[in-house]
Amino acid sequence: MSSSVVQIDEKVAAVVDELRAAVDHFAPVVFASSMGAEDMVLMDIIYRYNIDVDIFSIDTGRLPAETYALMAAAATHYGRRSVIYMPQAESVEIFVGAYGINGFFDSIDVRKACCHARKVEPLRRALAGKRAWVTGLRSSQSSTREAVVISAFDDNNGLQKINPLALWSDTEVWEYIHANGVPYNALHDQGFPSIGCAPCTRAIQPGEDIRAGRWWWENPETKECGLHMVDGRLQRIKVETV
Ligand code: SF4
Repeated sequence: MSSSVVQIDEKVAAVVDELRAAVDHFAPVVFASSMGAEDMVLMDIIYRYNIDVDIFSIDTGRLPAETYALMAAAATHYGRRSVIYMPQAESVEIFVGAYGINGFFDSIDVRKACCHARKVEPLRRALAGKRAWVTGLRSSQSSTREAVVISAFDDNNGLQKINPLALWSDTEVWEYIHANGVPYNALHDQGFPSIGCAPCTRAIQPGEDIRAGRWWWENPETKECGLHMVDGRLQRIKVETV
């Protein structure tokens, strides 16, 4: 057996332990899946090891067709459907009425208002009553995510936040996906390492930061949607194990 296979096996075992400990300490625990490559690894591990974590996704209404196709493919592959949260219609109507259908291109403030209506508010509803949430954040994903740790209290949302893949590399994520036949977004094979809403995501060039295609018209330090932010910055969180 190659050393990289052993290393991945050990990392998967650590993720399983982390998730089971989270359930023991913090149930009910939910996993927020954006259907990215990391999220598909976690979905596969949660289902494969039958871990008691409910999975949800947020349908902003502006996702690429490939992401909807993956949602359907994953439901077929696993024989289970994630819960889907959508924005409140009135909030989107007010936003579009005030700023236009693609108003998020006009300024960072307007873009963040769109992300708030379409992502942050549905997230708040999805996390209501939960004691911990799981995400696929990794510390090597970009300059905005270097502070990501495995487990810490999320002051912004008032519950524990578990990032079991915080220390995984991009190579390890893809090794796991290919070794286990995990379904993934077709856009990943077209130069999209990070995928969000269709109008706010584009392919990147070789050598660019893997989140360079997200809100590409903004500076790197503003490129978060608000799901993982406090006071305009990515949460700085202390390390705790569960
Ligand atoms: S990523 Fe773009 S379309 Fe999606 S919620 Fe944010 S601003 Fe709106």
